[in-house]
Amino acid sequence: MIQCGPKVVRRAAELLAAGELVALPTETVYGLGADATNADAVAKIYAAKGRPSNNPLIVHIADIPSAEKICQNFPAKAYALVERFWPGPLTLVLPRRLQGDGVVCERAVAGGKTVAVRCPGHPMALDIIRAVGRPIAAPSANRSGHTSPTSPAHVASEFDGIVELIVDGGECLVGLESTVLDLSGSTPAILRPGAITGEMLAPILELDPLQLSVNEMSRASHLAGEALKSPGLLWRHYAPKTRAFRYEASQVPAIRTWLPEKANVAIAQLAMLHSSVLPRTRERFNMPTEPMLYAREFYRTLRLADECGCDCLFIELPAAQTGLWAAILDRLGRATEPWSPEAKL
Ligand code: AMP
Ligand code: MG
Repeated sequence: MIQCGPKVVRRAAELLAAGELVALPTETVYGLGADATNADAVAKIYAAKGRPSNNPLIVHIADIPSAEKICQNFPAKAYALVERFWPGPLTLVLPRRLQGDGVVCERAVAGGKTVAVRCPGHPMALDIIRAVGRPIAAPSANRSGHTSPTSPAHVASEFDGIVELIVDGGECLVGLESTVLDLSGSTPAILRPGAITGEMLAPILELDPLQLSVNEMSRASHLAGEALKSPGLLWRHYAPKTRAFRYEASQVPAIRTWLPEKANVAIAQLAMLHSSVLPRTRERFNMPTEPMLYAREFYRTLRLADECGCDCLFIELPAAQTGLWAAILDRLGRATEPWSPEAKL
């Protein structure tokens, strides 16, 4: 049930403390939360999402001392980063504390030696975490592999009746999952790009942004089916149910001749850049050319495309590739297939 209002924080905290699942608003996407110290509670997340048990969860805390309690140590560069970017969409992967009061359970970290930790930039999430007084494991509140939720209604469409409480904190302001920065290895690496970009992180780490860029080794090992660093790196992820193609504006004439006679098309075009249209367009989404606004609308657009019942969705590729566009292109690349004249509808 979706709830907002003054009593919802306490109700959410009670449920979480009792080992139940609660869907929480964050600034990135909605999370499916459980007490990260309680293995039975965390098991419910994996069951509800249909998430593979080798895919670890991000653990949410409300302040730096709480992060220190679950990590083995907190290096100087981690302090420099979190003082600048927390609360906010930056997740740090660090060696985890294995024993002691309040450490996260093995299941939350998929049996690994590291923990991914983040302080979310949403006041209701922070109030709830503080009220529980324990770290909260929370992956995105969607079925594994599907589009992430950026509103309470998105969560309800998949989890109504399964999760007792969906806390209404409005639409997510960022709209893309957090940046995941691995500080557990010999060199820092961005495992998942997000709104805290490589360009923003690099000066603090005294590195070049290129040295931080997404770790292809992690992707490769994942594809080979080995234990992986960051399963959000799965190639096919975040996908709508509708067949979704990405395309470049220059391909429009070729797509026009390729489109089957009876196909109903949805198209997500970058607004104002050009007026070229595809035939048989039933639904047209004008996407913002400003990356912060684009990111905020991206997942909602995928869900709207599913609702309109079109045969396929065409998403125009933005030309820019740096900054926040890198994170958008990462999600776009996993949610869609490249259009080619050989594609079959
Ligand atoms: P989500 O399931 O949408 O919350 O995404 C969480 C992301 O953080 C996934 O890509 C996870 O693989 C990644 N992650 C969580 N814990 C770890 C960890 N200990 N090491 C590396 N990546 C992690
Ligand atoms: Mg997710």
